[in-house]
Amino acid sequence: MDGVLLGTGGMMPMPFRALTSLVVRREGWNYLFDAGEGAQIGLKASRTGIKNLKLIAITHLHADHCLGIPGILMLRAQIDEPGPLTIVGPPGISNFVKMTRETLGYYLNYAINFIEWTPDSKEIAYQDEGIKLIWKALDHTVFCLGYRLEEHIRPGKFSVEKAKSLNIPMGPFWGELQKGKTIHLPDGTEILPEMVLGQPRKGRHVSYIVDTRACDAIPALCQDCDFTFIESMFAQELQEEARQKGHLTTMEAAKLTLMANVKNTILVHFSPRYRNIDLQKLLVEAQSVNPAVQIGMTKKYYEIELPED
Ligand SMILES: [Zn+2]
Ligand SMILES: [Zn+2]
Repeated sequence: MDGVLLGTGGMMPMPFRALTSLVVRREGWNYLFDAGEGAQIGLKASRTGIKNLKLIAITHLHADHCLGIPGILMLRAQIDEPGPLTIVGPPGISNFVKMTRETLGYYLNYAINFIEWTPDSKEIAYQDEGIKLIWKALDHTVFCLGYRLEEHIRPGKFSVEKAKSLNIPMGPFWGELQKGKTIHLPDGTEILPEMVLGQPRKGRHVSYIVDTRACDAIPALCQDCDFTFIESMFAQELQEEARQKGHLTTMEAAKLTLMANVKNTILVHFSPRYRNIDLQKLLVEAQSVNPAVQIGMTKKYYEIELPED
């Protein structure tokens, strides 16, 4: 499981910085967070693949987070039988996609399943066999969602000694038990997975939080995460401007993830006023609060390792 940033910019794509998007890859499936203008270029450049893209989660309907959706949908339609796609997002996301389809008349060879936030929505937006996706409303100038992707709890560690003591022959039976399935030996003996597995193990957790003022939803989304990709639009000296425009500063982002015990904090969504050379200054500021902070790097693969058992 890993994450790759397609860009780290906010507000508008710049010649030196693409807009912020994150692809989380797990077991052959890709989950994309945000799709600003030009996001399909990032998808191509990062070589993450388009057919295995099964879900796009959009934070809010500002152009720098959603204008790239039509391009990605069209790119995906160039593949034979790409399979269905799920789009998760704020109220209006399905209408936005439908309007662009009606206006531009582009053809799609796959179904889109929309999951749109409503005030009655449950905490879990989506789940499949590998992960669940949690959403929470943030505090921006328009309705904006933050996300937390949680890998399901994994079965406990397989004990070779226990398997041998129960006379379970090495081979497919071991694999089934490791997956948490009950087996029957040729002599009819039933073996339950808990007879050979240790305690269930925690999965990996990643959160994606952009375009928000400091609010309670942030620590809730990133508590104990392996990785949090969080916006740091402004330096601390522009704290007032950040508040007016509904954004975080370096030190606010760093403090929030420190308090939430995040292992790796990756700053993204930088204002176009900062050239790449300025990002070091933002980093120094953020690290004065939380040393576990890094500046997001486009096309870098962030390996999300399994926790120690
Ligand atoms: Zn933005
Ligand atoms: Zn915004």
